[in-house]
Amino acid sequence: MQWFDADHAPGGADAMRREPDQVDWVRCIPFIILHLGCLGVIWTGASWFAVSAAAALYAVRMAAVTGVYHRYFSHKTYSTSRPMQFFLAVLGATTVQRGPLWWAYHHRHHHQHSDGPEDAHSPHVHGFLWSHIGWITSRRNFPTDYSKVRDLARFPELVFLNRFDAVVPAAFAAATFFAGAFLRAHAPGLHTGPWQMLVWGFFISTTALFHGTSCINSMAHLMGRRRYSTQDDSRNSFILAIITLGEGWHNNHHRYQGATRNGFFWWEIDITYYVLRCLSWTGLIWDLKDVPQSVLDEGAHPDHRESVAAASQVHLLHPEHAPLRRIVPAAAAIAVATVNAAYPAAPKRTGAAVHSDLSGHAVGQQGARAP
Ligand SMILES: [Zn+2]
Ligand SMILES: [Zn+2]
Repeated sequence: MQWFDADHAPGGADAMRREPDQVDWVRCIPFIILHLGCLGVIWTGASWFAVSAAAALYAVRMAAVTGVYHRYFSHKTYSTSRPMQFFLAVLGATTVQRGPLWWAYHHRHHHQHSDGPEDAHSPHVHGFLWSHIGWITSRRNFPTDYSKVRDLARFPELVFLNRFDAVVPAAFAAATFFAGAFLRAHAPGLHTGPWQMLVWGFFISTTALFHGTSCINSMAHLMGRRRYSTQDDSRNSFILAIITLGEGWHNNHHRYQGATRNGFFWWEIDITYYVLRCLSWTGLIWDLKDVPQSVLDEGAHPDHRESVAAASQVHLLHPEHAPLRRIVPAAAAIAVATVNAAYPAAPKRTGAAVHSDLSGHAVGQQGARAP
């Protein structure tokens, strides 16, 4: 029932959120189908058109995940009209990453508890596999906490998309199928068809999109450099920025979440930001938020970079080695305390005592001679 109505929670959403954090194997079925669907390529084969369509649909929908679900619904880094907001939400829903409110709620929660025990998808707390895919299959993460996304929950059209979050993905899959059927009938020279377009345009493109996005939850907290010494272990990675059209500058983003761009400097390629900037010239979106100069200065300051590098060295120690970090300074402190404690029993090595010791020999020798 919950696959059709995401708000269906017989025992209450709060009770579900308190359930143990474990894989619900029945809920894995859609993920398994999504991945198995890619194997359909064995029967449908490939054509230049279908492969290009898959790449284009990946790019457009990745921009929707980052530019809409993340930078608009989760962080409100720009403004738009209500009709455009609905259009963007539908575009975001074609990514098959559930509804906009569910996505925004979990993402805001991630920023609140980054890499802490409460973080639903921290690779440092739960391990790589859980942060990449496992957390989505845990029942406690199914419901949307509408109290955390009140600013979005006041739009019934967004709540509808969030509640019936399978409608748009099903329509999108059907659209790829019928587009293939149309092209076979009217453009046979493209050598494609309904099943081939479904496999490439929906299954392969969506599976790649899912893993690309998930890399931000898993890899962006493990791989890359840290410019800012944030409380979490977020990192900046050029490779991830290319795969995710700009989300790879994750350490920047954890330092300052209110900016429309994640690439803070001109050499940090952020394709989503370029798309949003172009959209703003059309007047469809406006009021893009910039990075404060103080945050840019902080990142560019050489002293700051050295301190972050030193902090990163500490992060290299695996959590399993954390007790070592406590034991080594403790052992040193015990050694110093022991030496200090031993000093009172030993002769005081003050200047006068040394002198008296040395002179003692002399004085003794002299004294022996002295009357
Ligand atoms: Zn993060
Ligand atoms: Zn964010």
